[in-house]
Amino acid sequence: MTTQKSQRRLVVLGAGESGFGAAILAKDKGMDVFLSDSGKISEKYRSRLVDEGIAFEEGGHSMDKILSADEIVKSPGIPLDAPVIVAAREKNIPVISEIEFAGRYTDSKMVCITGSNGKTTTTMLIHHILTHGGVDASLAGNVGKSLAYQVARDPHDVYVVELSSFQLDNMYDFKANIAVILNITPDHLDRYGYVMQNYINAKFRILQNMEPTDAFIFWKDDPVITEQLRHICTEARLLPFSEHQEEGSAAYIDAENDLIFNTPGTSMKMPRADLALNGLHNVFNSMAAGLSACLCDIGKDAIREALADFCGVEHRLEFVADIDGVRWINDSKATNVNSCYYALEAMTAPTVLILGGKDKGNDYNEILPLVKEKVTAIVAMGKDNAKIMEFFGPHVQRIADTHSLADAVEACRSFAKPGDTVLLSPCCASFDLFSSYEDRGRKFKDAVKSLK
Ligand code: ADP
Repeated sequence: MTTQKSQRRLVVLGAGESGFGAAILAKDKGMDVFLSDSGKISEKYRSRLVDEGIAFEEGGHSMDKILSADEIVKSPGIPLDAPVIVAAREKNIPVISEIEFAGRYTDSKMVCITGSNGKTTTTMLIHHILTHGGVDASLAGNVGKSLAYQVARDPHDVYVVELSSFQLDNMYDFKANIAVILNITPDHLDRYGYVMQNYINAKFRILQNMEPTDAFIFWKDDPVITEQLRHICTEARLLPFSEHQEEGSAAYIDAENDLIFNTPGTSMKMPRADLALNGLHNVFNSMAAGLSACLCDIGKDAIREALADFCGVEHRLEFVADIDGVRWINDSKATNVNSCYYALEAMTAPTVLILGGKDKGNDYNEILPLVKEKVTAIVAMGKDNAKIMEFFGPHVQRIADTHSLADAVEACRSFAKPGDTVLLSPCCASFDLFSSYEDRGRKFKDAVKSLK
């Protein structure tokens, strides 16, 4: 049977969670779907594609099949300058993200979170508060199940969507009801032609199409965000949060160390000491989450309870064990300097710091004052530690050059005294010694637990 001309042809590039979900939604909407992955498709998705009867290929792209598409859904991992994307653009085939695609088929409320650091924590925290408050909310974007899949097969009233700049790159008509920008510091610049403004512009795409009934929550103390706001206009209501009370702040810390929340519908306070998550960065994440919850009409008690009993997220300032009076903390997700800055900011005891991995052009000056103040020893852990050894060598009493996790943990053990903290917050990607930051964090936790 030949394909009817009227049937829309959608090609999905990449067979991960988002690509698989997009293919399912397209199938359910009666489209002619073809999925193409340049690598190997994991068994989990391959068998489901077969069961669903969705046409696919792996290990390469058949350009003729791809360039016959009416529209292409691109997985966020594929760079904009990949040859297949360039070829699609030359043929004027629209390339969109899975979130953009899914957004066309749902009227559910969208709470969307972006930023350089803190996205996952804040997304999960918002989801925790909303579900605690009785809302049918679900996670999507970088966490949880694909938005497209849920829209097709498992719909919810509210989606709490973590959006990376890569997802935002191909979003055009999607509209967030609540948009959060936590912070913007240099990251992923290799994907943005090493031009910071391109990365900033990608983040601010989260505000596209917002209307006066929508809300934009952002960190007012961030100079990059406030500068960018001077150059763009949005109809959304602005709800800034800041460390101290400032004109217009919708959330801040008052002189009694309480968090104050003020939205059009809710005024409430909560002692900072009751927050489940430690560190100033998590105060900001909690402010963003609390404000989002106020706007979703969650009761004050439910918000306070949920901010106080949130369990945290694995690999983010995660307590591992107390061994012979030394606290071991896994912050493996700190893959850039700014996230390590906030981890160090949260440390209250002398700290042995594990740094290293695949450097993304790091400037360590940002953490130098905190290292001088709090760090008693540095353990470099990576294939090539020269930059770390050279930069920190003159500033710390003790520094070790290690090339395996086992040697790094051993060095930490020899440096740390009872009362100290050992912190894995490496400032770098993990790919030199590990397969992912999760792999690094889990192996670290296993090694620490085996010291008991
Ligand atoms: P993302 O999803 O944006 O990568 P995560 O919540 O996974 O953010 O946290 C990544 C790292 O950043 C962790 O090391 C965490 O401790 C740190 N972090 C979390 N929130 C913030 C924040 N608001 N500002 C700076 N660093 C943060």
